[in-house]
Order: sequence, then C-alpha cells, then structure tokens
Amino acid sequence: IIYLDNNATTRMADEVIQAVSEALVIYGNASSMHGFGRDAAAAIEQARHQVASLIDCDPSEVVFTSGASEANNTVFNIFRDKIDLGSKRNRIVTTTIEHPSIIETVKFLKSRGYLVDEVPVDKTGRVDLATLKTYLGEDVALVSVMTGNNETGTIQPIEEITKLVHAVGAYMHTDATQAIGKIPVSMKDWDVDYMSLSGHKFYGPKGIGVLAVKKKVPFETFIHGGHQEGGKRAGTYNTPSIVGIGVAAELAEKNLESESKHLWHLREMLRLGIVQTIPNVVVNGNQEHCLPGTLDVSFPSAEGESILLYLDLDGIEVSTGSACASGSLEPSYVLLASGVDIELAHGSIRFSFGHYNTEDDVKYVLQKLPPIIKRLRELSTR
Ligand code: PMP
Repeated sequence: IIYLDNNATTRMADEVIQAVSEALVIYGNASSMHGFGRDAAAAIEQARHQVASLIDCDPSEVVFTSGASEANNTVFNIFRDKIDLGSKRNRIVTTTIEHPSIIETVKFLKSRGYLVDEVPVDKTGRVDLATLKTYLGEDVALVSVMTGNNETGTIQPIEEITKLVHAVGAYMHTDATQAIGKIPVSMKDWDVDYMSLSGHKFYGPKGIGVLAVKKKVPFETFIHGGHQEGGKRAGTYNTPSIVGIGVAAELAEKNLESESKHLWHLREMLRLGIVQTIPNVVVNGNQEHCLPGTLDVSFPSAEGESILLYLDLDGIEVSTGSACASGSLEPSYVLLASGVDIELAHGSIRFSFGHYNTEDDVKYVLQKLPPIIKRLRELSTR
C-alpha cells in the first residue's frame, strides 16, 4: 500500500509505539501520592516539557486534550462564556477555510446570537492582511486563523496577523495541527495566545492533543472535577497517550529540517510528474507558502471520488477534499471559499506525504495515475 493520506492521519513512529507500550505498564494514577502515582506524574511532566520545547512555550502553558477538535472548541467556548453580547468587545473573527471543528463551532455560536465574521481568502487560500484589517476593531475579542490548511497546505502569515490582532486589543488563536513537524512553529516568536495541535498528525497516538494557553490570557476550567491540568481540565490522565505525544514531539523537533526537505522533495517530484504527464490539471493552494508534504490537484472532467476509488484499487491511498468533510460527496468547501470553480472543486485530489514515503511511491503513482485520468475523461465525454 502506498499511503499518501498523511494529513488525515499518520502511522505511529516505532519510538512512539515503544514508549506507549512501556507507559501502559505505568498504571498508577498520576494524582496519587505513592510511588506508582509519582512515576506516572513524572512521565506526564516529561511529555509536557517535550511538547513545550517543540512549540516554544512554557511547559505550564501546555494543556493536554483529546485532540485538536477539543482544543479548537475550547478556545471558542472560553470566549462564548466571556462575551457579554451587549458589551462593546463582543465579536469573534475567523476565516472561511478553517477545519470543520471551527467552522461547525462558528455555526453553532451564530445560531445562539454571537457575532462571528469569517474573513474570505484569496485564490490561493491565503488571508490577505489588508482584507483582514477591515474586520478588526475595538469590538473584536478573539481572532482564530489556522497555521496551515489540511487540504491545500496553504500557510498563513500568523506572526503578521497576530500583530494586527494585538494592535486592536484582541486575542489570537491558531490551529497549528497540520504545521507541526513540517515548518517551524513558535508560540513565543509568533506571540499567539492560544494554539491547538493533535498527536496523530505527527506520528503520535490518536485521541490526544494539546491546547497551549499563554499565561495571563482569558481561561476557564472546561471540564470540572479533579485538579488535573492545573484545574483547567479534570479527568484521570491518559498517561500512555500523553507519553506518546511527548515522544512524537521530541522526534518532530529533532527531525524538522530533514523531514521538511524530504516532504517537499517528494511533493515536488509528484507535482512536476503530474503536470508533465497529464494535460489540463490545476494545482490548488499557494505554491510559495505551502506545507511541504501537501499537494492538492484538480483534474477537470474527472470526478474526485472516481479517481480516489481507482487509485485505491491500485493500492494508492489518497483523499478528496478533507477526510473530515468527505463522505458527503460535496465539493471541497475550502476550494470553493478560495474562489475555485465548482467543477474543479469536485475533481480535486489531495496527496499528502509523510515520513515513511519514498521516491518509489511517487514513481508508482506517476505510473498508475495518468491512465486513470485518461479513462475517466474519455467516459465523461462519451
Ligand atoms: N485541525 C486541523 C487543521 C486538522 O487537520 C484536524 C484533523 N483533521 C483537526 C483540527 C482535528 O484534529 P483531531 O483529529 O485531533 O480532533
């Protein structure tokens, strides 16, 4: 199997599997004061340091969650609870191309009367700073812009956006889920107030993520109960998964440079191969500011789902649009929001590379893909 769906999820690294397996044996409750409890607590604190080092923040700012969906929901919920609808600072600003865990939260908030603006993006899926500025004012409480898009790979200028956001006295959140381990990510340098990430996107376990919260920014306990996570999120610690995301974070930090080069090389090899061998294709997203492993391509007159199924028969696993939005057979909302034509949005395929892919994988795709597109195009013109 050639797995080219690493933006949906990644295979756990061997080092992570090893560490998680060992942590399964540390069965003490990290809140217990005896030796077993202290062993678990020490393993968790080590993971907190590993994650903090990766995203360049203080370990006390790391809150473990069940994933990025929970982290994203939580940031919006904090502001929902803080915002008095009648007050002057009562608006949230985000974009049209966020992950569904934000898009759906925004829909819910709007249905309850909260004021949320979704800033449009340009044709490459990038937020234009001048456009964003027109949405920012003294009435804005929170701005949330993702670091890199899961579907097109387009990277946003988070540092510049944060400056604009802070200039009007608002707080800044970024969903860095797709950027981790692929580009440098820094809470400190970017000066963001909240950041979300997810273990399973960088060779860690599923069901574990992080909400990083800068000191002295608004925060509410979001699960009431015990004193875990400094009283922010109650519940017995998921020690094995926390240990797993910690080891994954350490690997991501150590391998960042080589990983980024490896992913870009494979992505470019596939992009060039596709444009050279298949006529009339459109590469989506911003080609200058792009996550190194993501390649999103539209094949006019060939349906995305059909391409996906034919590739699957040949043992190549890709996705149409985003895995979270697919299953609906709707065209990609990310591409539509970027002003891409509806037919092109229907025929898009996302190839997303990971650590374990090789040049041979790309060669195999370049051998199988052109005849599939040719056949589907012939069928569609009959
Ligand atoms: N944000 C982005 C950008 C994502 O790609 C994903 C995963 N598809 C999520 C959030 C949700 O992460 P999780 O699966 O940990 O809830």
